[in-house]
Amino acid sequence: MLKLENYEAIINKCSHCGYCQATCPVYLEDMLESHVARNRLNLINQVLILKTMPSTPRFREILDRCLLCTNCTQTCSSKVPVDEIIIAARAETGKSTLGGLKSFVMSKMLQQRGLTGLMGKAGSLVQKMGVAAREMPQLASKPFSQIYSGTIPAQGEQRGRVAYFVGCGTNFLYPDTGIATVQVLTRNGWEVVIPAGQVCCGIPAMAEGDLAAAREMVATNLNLFDLDNVDAVITDCTSCGMMIKEKFSKMLNPEDPLQEKAQAWAGKIYEITDFLQQQGLSDRPASLYASFTYHVPCHRGWSPTVVDAPRELLGNLPGAELRELPDPEKCCGAAGTFFMEHRDLSERIRSHRVEQIEASEVQTVITQCPVCRFYLSASLNSQQVTHPVIMLAQAYENVSQE
Ligand code: SF4
Ligand code: SF4
Repeated sequence: MLKLENYEAIINKCSHCGYCQATCPVYLEDMLESHVARNRLNLINQVLILKTMPSTPRFREILDRCLLCTNCTQTCSSKVPVDEIIIAARAETGKSTLGGLKSFVMSKMLQQRGLTGLMGKAGSLVQKMGVAAREMPQLASKPFSQIYSGTIPAQGEQRGRVAYFVGCGTNFLYPDTGIATVQVLTRNGWEVVIPAGQVCCGIPAMAEGDLAAAREMVATNLNLFDLDNVDAVITDCTSCGMMIKEKFSKMLNPEDPLQEKAQAWAGKIYEITDFLQQQGLSDRPASLYASFTYHVPCHRGWSPTVVDAPRELLGNLPGAELRELPDPEKCCGAAGTFFMEHRDLSERIRSHRVEQIEASEVQTVITQCPVCRFYLSASLNSQQVTHPVIMLAQAYENVSQE
Protein backbone atom coordinates (compact mmCIF):
# COMPACT_ATOMS: atom_id res chain seq x y z
CA MET A 1 0.00 0.00 0.00
CA LEU A 2 1.13 3.56 -0.70
CA LYS A 3 1.50 4.46 2.96
CA LEU A 4 4.55 6.43 3.96
CA GLU A 5 5.31 4.01 6.79
CA ASN A 6 5.92 1.31 4.16
CA TYR A 7 8.73 3.40 2.63
CA GLU A 8 10.64 4.25 5.81
CA ALA A 9 13.44 1.79 5.08
CA ILE A 10 13.76 2.34 1.34
CA ILE A 11 13.83 6.13 1.62
CA ASN A 12 17.17 5.75 3.41
CA LYS A 13 18.59 3.85 0.45
CA CYS A 14 19.02 7.16 -1.39
CA SER A 15 22.79 7.55 -1.64
CA HIS A 16 22.55 11.21 -2.75
CA CYS A 17 24.42 10.23 -5.92
CA GLY A 18 22.50 12.86 -7.91
CA TYR A 19 21.85 10.73 -11.00
CA CYS A 20 18.22 11.83 -10.79
CA GLN A 21 19.20 15.48 -11.26
CA ALA A 22 19.89 15.23 -14.98
CA THR A 23 16.48 13.74 -15.78
CA CYS A 24 14.17 15.90 -13.63
CA PRO A 25 12.23 18.31 -15.87
CA VAL A 26 11.41 20.56 -12.91
CA TYR A 27 15.03 20.86 -11.78
CA LEU A 28 16.17 21.50 -15.35
CA GLU A 29 13.83 24.51 -15.49
CA ASP A 30 14.04 25.88 -11.94
CA MET A 31 17.67 24.84 -11.29
CA LEU A 32 16.83 24.57 -7.61
CA GLU A 33 18.42 21.73 -5.66
CA SER A 34 15.26 21.61 -3.52
CA HIS A 35 13.43 20.17 -6.53
CA VAL A 36 15.79 17.26 -7.15
CA ALA A 37 14.44 13.88 -6.02
CA ARG A 38 17.14 13.37 -3.39
CA ASN A 39 16.16 16.60 -1.67
CA ARG A 40 12.45 15.87 -1.89
CA LEU A 41 13.14 12.50 -0.25
CA ASN A 42 15.26 14.05 2.46
CA LEU A 43 12.55 16.61 3.24
CA ILE A 44 9.82 13.96 3.36
CA ASN A 45 11.99 11.94 5.72
CA GLN A 46 12.69 14.91 8.00
CA VAL A 47 9.17 16.36 8.04
CA LEU A 48 6.82 13.38 7.85
CA ILE A 49 8.80 10.39 9.09
CA LEU A 50 11.39 11.63 11.61
CA LYS A 51 9.38 14.79 12.37
CA THR A 52 12.55 16.80 12.94
CA MET A 53 11.32 19.65 10.75
CA PRO A 54 7.93 21.39 10.59
CA SER A 55 5.55 21.02 7.67
CA THR A 56 5.67 24.47 6.06
CA PRO A 57 3.95 25.92 2.98
CA ARG A 58 7.33 25.71 1.21
CA PHE A 59 7.54 21.98 1.98
CA ARG A 60 4.07 21.45 0.53
CA GLU A 61 5.01 23.52 -2.52
CA ILE A 62 8.06 21.31 -3.11
CA LEU A 63 5.86 18.21 -2.84
CA ASP A 64 3.39 19.75 -5.23
CA ARG A 65 5.92 20.97 -7.82
CA CYS A 66 6.59 17.46 -9.11
CA LEU A 67 5.20 16.08 -12.37
CA LEU A 68 5.30 12.48 -11.11
CA CYS A 69 6.96 11.81 -14.44
CA THR A 70 8.91 8.88 -12.84
CA ASN A 71 12.15 9.93 -14.58
CA CYS A 72 13.92 9.91 -11.21
CA THR A 73 12.49 6.49 -10.32
CA GLN A 74 13.61 5.13 -13.69
CA THR A 75 17.14 6.48 -13.35
CA CYS A 76 17.65 5.96 -9.61
CA SER A 77 20.83 3.98 -8.93
CA SER A 78 19.37 2.67 -5.67
CA LYS A 79 15.96 1.78 -7.12
CA VAL A 80 14.11 4.14 -4.79
CA PRO A 81 10.47 4.51 -5.97
CA VAL A 82 10.56 8.30 -5.65
CA ASP A 83 7.18 8.87 -7.31
CA GLU A 84 5.42 6.53 -4.89
CA ILE A 85 7.04 8.20 -1.90
CA ILE A 86 5.91 11.62 -3.13
CA ILE A 87 2.36 10.30 -3.64
CA ALA A 88 2.36 8.78 -0.13
CA ALA A 89 3.58 12.12 1.25
CA ARG A 90 0.86 13.99 -0.62
CA ALA A 91 -1.70 11.59 0.83
CA GLU A 92 -0.35 12.25 4.30
CA THR A 93 -0.38 16.03 3.93
CA GLY A 94 -3.84 16.09 2.31
CA LYS A 95 -2.81 17.85 -0.88
CA SER A 96 -5.66 19.63 -2.65
CA THR A 97 -4.50 22.71 -4.51
CA LEU A 98 -7.51 23.22 -6.74
CA GLY A 99 -9.83 22.45 -3.86
CA GLY A 100 -13.45 22.05 -4.85
CA LEU A 101 -12.83 21.60 -8.54
CA LYS A 102 -10.41 18.74 -8.09
CA SER A 103 -12.56 16.98 -5.52
CA PHE A 104 -15.48 17.35 -7.88
CA VAL A 105 -13.62 15.90 -10.85
CA MET A 106 -12.02 13.08 -8.89
CA SER A 107 -14.99 11.95 -6.89
CA LYS A 108 -17.72 12.30 -9.48
CA MET A 109 -16.64 12.40 -13.08
CA LEU A 110 -13.85 9.87 -13.10
CA GLN A 111 -15.89 7.34 -11.16
CA GLN A 112 -19.00 7.75 -13.31
CA ARG A 113 -18.28 7.47 -17.00
CA GLY A 114 -21.79 8.26 -18.12
CA LEU A 115 -21.73 11.74 -16.68
CA THR A 116 -20.07 13.49 -19.58
CA GLY A 117 -22.01 16.67 -18.74
CA LEU A 118 -19.92 16.91 -15.60
CA MET A 119 -16.78 16.95 -17.71
CA GLY A 120 -18.06 19.99 -19.55
CA LYS A 121 -18.88 21.65 -16.25
CA ALA A 122 -15.40 20.92 -14.97
CA GLY A 123 -14.01 22.40 -18.18
CA SER A 124 -15.98 25.63 -17.77
CA LEU A 125 -14.82 25.91 -14.16
CA VAL A 126 -11.23 25.53 -15.26
CA GLN A 127 -11.73 28.21 -17.89
CA LYS A 128 -13.12 30.52 -15.23
CA MET A 129 -9.86 30.01 -13.38
CA GLY A 130 -8.08 31.59 -16.32
CA VAL A 131 -6.88 28.54 -18.23
CA ALA A 132 -7.24 29.45 -21.92
CA ALA A 133 -9.70 27.40 -23.95
CA ARG A 134 -6.91 26.29 -26.27
CA GLU A 135 -5.09 24.84 -23.28
CA MET A 136 -8.05 22.67 -22.34
CA PRO A 137 -8.85 19.44 -24.18
CA GLN A 138 -12.12 19.55 -26.06
CA LEU A 139 -14.67 16.83 -25.38
CA ALA A 140 -15.40 14.53 -28.29
CA SER A 141 -18.92 14.87 -29.68
CA LYS A 142 -19.54 11.22 -28.82
CA PRO A 143 -17.60 9.24 -26.19
CA PHE A 144 -15.99 5.99 -27.26
CA SER A 145 -18.39 4.06 -24.99
CA GLN A 146 -21.22 5.07 -27.36
CA ILE A 147 -19.31 3.88 -30.42
CA TYR A 148 -18.09 0.43 -29.42
CA SER A 149 -19.22 -1.81 -26.55
CA GLY A 150 -19.61 -5.50 -25.79
CA THR A 151 -17.77 -8.07 -27.90
CA ILE A 152 -16.38 -7.24 -31.32
CA PRO A 153 -15.55 -10.38 -33.30
CA ALA A 154 -12.20 -11.03 -34.97
CA GLN A 155 -12.03 -10.74 -38.72
CA GLY A 156 -10.91 -13.91 -40.48
CA GLU A 157 -9.29 -16.66 -38.47
CA GLN A 158 -9.41 -15.90 -34.75
CA ARG A 159 -6.01 -15.85 -33.00
CA GLY A 160 -7.28 -15.08 -29.53
CA ARG A 161 -9.37 -12.86 -27.31
CA VAL A 162 -8.39 -9.65 -25.55
CA ALA A 163 -10.13 -7.33 -23.10
CA TYR A 164 -9.85 -3.60 -23.80
CA PHE A 165 -9.44 -1.21 -20.89
CA VAL A 166 -10.62 2.14 -22.25
CA GLY A 167 -8.96 5.05 -20.45
CA CYS A 168 -10.67 8.39 -19.86
CA GLY A 169 -8.54 10.15 -22.47
CA THR A 170 -9.77 7.81 -25.19
CA ASN A 171 -13.34 7.69 -23.94
CA PHE A 172 -13.89 11.42 -23.52
CA LEU A 173 -11.31 13.15 -25.72
CA TYR A 174 -9.89 10.87 -28.37
CA PRO A 175 -12.34 8.13 -29.39
CA ASP A 176 -10.36 7.91 -32.65
CA THR A 177 -7.65 6.08 -30.69
CA GLY A 178 -10.21 3.55 -29.43
CA ILE A 179 -11.74 3.08 -32.87
CA ALA A 180 -8.29 2.44 -34.39
CA THR A 181 -7.41 0.05 -31.54
CA VAL A 182 -10.52 -2.06 -32.13
CA GLN A 183 -10.12 -1.98 -35.91
CA VAL A 184 -6.46 -3.01 -35.90
CA LEU A 185 -6.95 -5.74 -33.28
CA THR A 186 -9.94 -7.35 -35.01
CA ARG A 187 -8.24 -7.04 -38.38
CA ASN A 188 -5.35 -9.04 -36.96
CA GLY A 189 -7.53 -11.87 -35.65
CA TRP A 190 -8.21 -10.72 -32.09
CA GLU A 191 -11.71 -10.77 -30.65
CA VAL A 192 -12.12 -7.65 -28.48
CA VAL A 193 -14.20 -7.63 -25.29
CA ILE A 194 -15.06 -4.24 -23.81
CA PRO A 195 -16.55 -4.77 -20.34
CA ALA A 196 -19.34 -2.30 -19.53
CA GLY A 197 -19.08 0.04 -16.55
CA GLN A 198 -15.34 0.77 -16.73
CA VAL A 199 -14.16 3.83 -14.84
CA CYS A 200 -10.93 5.83 -14.67
CA CYS A 201 -7.83 3.75 -13.87
CA GLY A 202 -7.37 5.95 -10.79
CA ILE A 203 -4.04 7.57 -11.66
CA PRO A 204 -5.25 11.21 -11.42
CA ALA A 205 -6.73 10.59 -7.97
CA MET A 206 -3.61 8.71 -6.86
CA ALA A 207 -1.40 11.58 -8.05
CA GLU A 208 -3.42 13.94 -5.91
CA GLY A 209 -2.86 11.72 -2.89
CA ASP A 210 -6.58 10.84 -2.81
CA LEU A 211 -5.87 7.16 -2.30
CA ALA A 212 -9.40 6.29 -1.14
CA ALA A 213 -10.90 7.51 -4.44
CA ALA A 214 -8.16 5.76 -6.44
CA ARG A 215 -8.73 2.50 -4.54
CA GLU A 216 -12.46 2.67 -5.28
CA MET A 217 -11.81 3.05 -9.01
CA VAL A 218 -9.27 0.21 -9.00
CA ALA A 219 -11.75 -2.09 -7.22
CA THR A 220 -14.57 -1.18 -9.63
CA ASN A 221 -12.42 -2.02 -12.64
CA LEU A 222 -11.00 -5.21 -11.17
CA ASN A 223 -14.50 -6.53 -10.49
CA LEU A 224 -15.61 -5.96 -14.10
CA PHE A 225 -13.08 -8.00 -16.04
CA ASP A 226 -13.09 -11.78 -16.43
CA LEU A 227 -9.38 -12.38 -16.93
CA ASP A 228 -9.60 -16.17 -17.16
CA ASN A 229 -11.14 -15.90 -20.61
CA VAL A 230 -8.80 -13.43 -22.25
CA ASP A 231 -5.20 -13.67 -23.45
CA ALA A 232 -4.37 -10.08 -22.59
CA VAL A 233 -5.76 -6.79 -21.36
CA ILE A 234 -5.08 -3.96 -23.82
CA THR A 235 -4.66 -0.28 -23.04
CA ASP A 236 -3.80 2.47 -25.50
CA CYS A 237 -2.50 4.78 -22.75
CA THR A 238 0.93 4.40 -21.19
CA SER A 239 -0.21 6.05 -17.94
CA CYS A 240 -3.16 3.66 -17.54
CA GLY A 241 -0.72 0.84 -18.33
CA MET A 242 1.70 1.94 -15.62
CA MET A 243 -1.16 2.28 -13.14
CA ILE A 244 -2.45 -1.21 -13.88
CA LYS A 245 0.94 -2.89 -14.03
CA GLU A 246 2.68 -1.23 -11.11
CA LYS A 247 0.13 0.46 -8.86
CA PHE A 248 -3.16 -1.49 -8.85
CA SER A 249 -1.85 -3.99 -6.32
CA LYS A 250 -0.37 -1.19 -4.21
CA MET A 251 -3.74 0.53 -3.96
CA LEU A 252 -5.12 -2.46 -2.06
CA ASN A 253 -4.44 -3.90 1.39
CA PRO A 254 -2.18 -6.97 1.22
CA GLU A 255 -5.05 -9.15 2.46
CA ASP A 256 -7.64 -7.66 0.08
CA PRO A 257 -9.43 -10.44 -1.84
CA LEU A 258 -8.86 -8.41 -5.04
CA GLN A 259 -5.07 -8.71 -4.70
CA GLU A 260 -4.94 -11.89 -6.77
CA LYS A 261 -6.90 -10.22 -9.55
CA ALA A 262 -4.72 -7.10 -9.42
CA GLN A 263 -1.64 -9.25 -9.86
CA ALA A 264 -3.29 -11.18 -12.70
CA TRP A 265 -4.00 -7.86 -14.46
CA ALA A 266 -0.37 -6.87 -14.02
CA GLY A 267 0.64 -10.03 -15.84
CA LYS A 268 -1.71 -9.46 -18.76
CA ILE A 269 -1.63 -5.72 -19.43
CA TYR A 270 -0.10 -4.50 -22.71
CA GLU A 271 -0.07 -1.17 -24.49
CA ILE A 272 -1.68 -1.69 -27.90
CA THR A 273 1.37 -1.15 -30.13
CA ASP A 274 3.55 -3.18 -27.76
CA PHE A 275 1.03 -6.03 -27.96
CA LEU A 276 0.80 -5.89 -31.75
CA GLN A 277 4.56 -5.79 -32.17
CA GLN A 278 5.07 -8.74 -29.81
CA GLN A 279 2.32 -10.84 -31.40
CA GLY A 280 3.13 -9.85 -34.96
CA LEU A 281 0.71 -8.51 -37.56
CA SER A 282 -1.15 -11.24 -39.42
CA ASP A 283 -2.52 -8.64 -41.82
CA ARG A 284 0.21 -6.41 -43.18
CA PRO A 285 -0.39 -2.73 -43.85
CA ALA A 286 1.33 -1.59 -47.03
CA SER A 287 2.15 2.08 -46.90
CA LEU A 288 2.12 5.21 -44.82
CA TYR A 289 3.61 8.05 -46.86
CA ALA A 290 4.20 10.38 -43.94
CA SER A 291 7.09 11.87 -42.06
CA PHE A 292 6.70 11.57 -38.32
CA THR A 293 8.51 11.79 -35.04
CA TYR A 294 7.92 10.06 -31.73
CA HIS A 295 7.34 11.90 -28.46
CA VAL A 296 8.04 9.18 -25.89
CA PRO A 297 5.66 9.38 -22.89
CA CYS A 298 7.23 9.59 -19.42
CA HIS A 299 5.25 6.62 -18.08
CA ARG A 300 7.21 4.07 -20.08
CA GLY A 301 9.19 2.22 -17.40
CA TRP A 302 6.56 -0.49 -16.89
CA SER A 303 7.37 -2.21 -20.20
CA PRO A 304 10.87 -2.61 -21.66
CA THR A 305 9.48 -2.67 -25.22
CA VAL A 306 6.72 -0.06 -25.18
CA VAL A 307 8.97 2.63 -26.69
CA ASP A 308 10.34 0.40 -29.44
CA ALA A 309 6.96 -0.87 -30.63
CA PRO A 310 5.63 2.25 -32.41
CA ARG A 311 8.99 2.79 -34.10
CA GLU A 312 9.15 -0.80 -35.32
CA LEU A 313 5.50 -1.06 -36.37
CA LEU A 314 5.46 2.17 -38.35
CA GLY A 315 9.06 3.02 -39.15
CA ASN A 316 9.57 0.28 -41.74
CA LEU A 317 6.35 0.81 -43.70
CA PRO A 318 6.86 1.99 -47.29
CA GLY A 319 6.72 5.76 -47.43
CA ALA A 320 7.23 6.14 -43.68
CA GLU A 321 9.98 8.45 -42.54
CA LEU A 322 10.71 8.41 -38.82
CA ARG A 323 12.79 11.42 -37.78
CA GLU A 324 14.00 11.00 -34.21
CA LEU A 325 14.05 14.05 -31.96
CA PRO A 326 17.39 14.92 -30.29
CA ASP A 327 15.86 13.91 -26.95
CA PRO A 328 12.75 11.79 -27.65
CA GLU A 329 12.08 11.07 -23.95
CA LYS A 330 11.95 14.70 -22.87
CA CYS A 331 8.81 15.50 -20.84
CA CYS A 332 6.19 17.79 -22.44
CA GLY A 333 5.22 19.34 -19.10
CA ALA A 334 1.53 18.37 -19.07
CA ALA A 335 1.45 15.57 -16.45
CA GLY A 336 -2.28 15.06 -15.95
CA THR A 337 -3.62 18.25 -14.34
CA PHE A 338 -0.16 19.61 -13.44
CA PHE A 339 -0.26 22.03 -16.39
CA MET A 340 -3.35 23.74 -14.93
CA GLU A 341 -1.74 24.39 -11.56
CA HIS A 342 1.77 25.24 -12.73
CA ARG A 343 1.11 26.89 -16.05
CA ASP A 344 4.30 28.89 -16.35
CA LEU A 345 6.52 25.92 -15.48
CA SER A 346 4.59 23.55 -17.78
CA GLU A 347 4.76 26.00 -20.66
CA ARG A 348 8.51 26.43 -20.22
CA ILE A 349 9.01 22.64 -20.21
CA ARG A 350 6.80 22.25 -23.28
CA SER A 351 8.55 25.01 -25.22
CA HIS A 352 11.77 22.94 -25.51
CA ARG A 353 9.85 19.98 -26.87
CA VAL A 354 7.89 22.14 -29.31
CA GLU A 355 11.11 23.73 -30.59
CA GLN A 356 12.57 20.28 -31.29
CA ILE A 357 9.40 19.13 -33.08
CA GLU A 358 9.19 22.26 -35.22
CA ALA A 359 12.85 21.95 -36.16
CA SER A 360 12.25 18.36 -37.30
CA GLU A 361 9.73 19.61 -39.91
CA VAL A 362 7.71 16.41 -39.71
CA GLN A 363 4.03 16.22 -40.61
CA THR A 364 2.97 14.19 -37.59
CA VAL A 365 3.97 13.55 -33.98
CA ILE A 366 3.03 10.20 -32.45
CA THR A 367 2.69 9.49 -28.75
CA GLN A 368 0.79 6.95 -26.64
CA CYS A 369 -0.36 9.42 -23.99
CA PRO A 370 -3.61 11.39 -24.51
CA VAL A 371 -2.45 14.18 -22.18
CA CYS A 372 0.79 14.65 -24.13
CA ARG A 373 -1.30 14.58 -27.29
CA PHE A 374 -3.58 17.46 -26.40
CA TYR A 375 -0.91 19.50 -24.60
CA LEU A 376 1.50 19.36 -27.53
CA SER A 377 -1.34 19.92 -30.02
CA ALA A 378 -2.26 23.12 -28.19
CA SER A 379 1.14 24.60 -28.98
CA LEU A 380 1.88 23.20 -32.44
CA ASN A 381 0.56 24.94 -35.54
CA SER A 382 2.02 22.89 -38.37
CA GLN A 383 2.03 19.34 -37.02
CA GLN A 384 -0.77 17.04 -35.95
CA VAL A 385 -0.27 14.90 -32.84
CA THR A 386 -1.80 11.46 -32.88
CA HIS A 387 -1.59 7.94 -31.44
CA PRO A 388 0.60 5.45 -33.34
CA VAL A 389 -2.28 2.98 -33.61
CA ILE A 390 -4.21 5.61 -35.58
CA MET A 391 -1.35 5.85 -38.06
CA LEU A 392 -1.31 2.08 -38.29
CA ALA A 393 -5.05 2.03 -39.00
CA GLN A 394 -4.46 4.66 -41.68
CA ALA A 395 -1.77 2.48 -43.23
CA TYR A 396 -4.39 -0.28 -43.56
CA GLU A 397 -6.72 2.16 -45.26
CA ASN A 398 -3.92 2.92 -47.70
CA VAL A 399 -3.83 -0.80 -48.51
CA SER A 400 -7.50 -0.95 -49.30
CA GLN A 401 -7.23 2.15 -51.52
CA GLU A 402 -4.39 0.65 -53.57
S1 SF4 B 1 8.92 12.53 -10.64
FE1 SF4 B 1 9.79 13.81 -12.29
S2 SF4 B 1 9.38 15.94 -11.67
FE2 SF4 B 1 9.14 14.64 -9.82
S3 SF4 B 1 11.15 14.67 -8.80
FE3 SF4 B 1 11.09 12.87 -10.13
S4 SF4 B 1 12.03 13.56 -12.08
FE4 SF4 B 1 11.46 15.40 -10.92
S1 SF4 C 1 19.33 8.69 -8.20
FE1 SF4 C 1 18.25 7.71 -6.45
S2 SF4 C 1 19.91 7.32 -4.96
FE2 SF4 C 1 20.72 8.84 -6.41
S3 SF4 C 1 20.23 10.84 -5.46
FE3 SF4 C 1 18.54 10.35 -6.86
S4 SF4 C 1 16.99 9.36 -5.57
FE4 SF4 C 1 18.95 9.29 -4.42
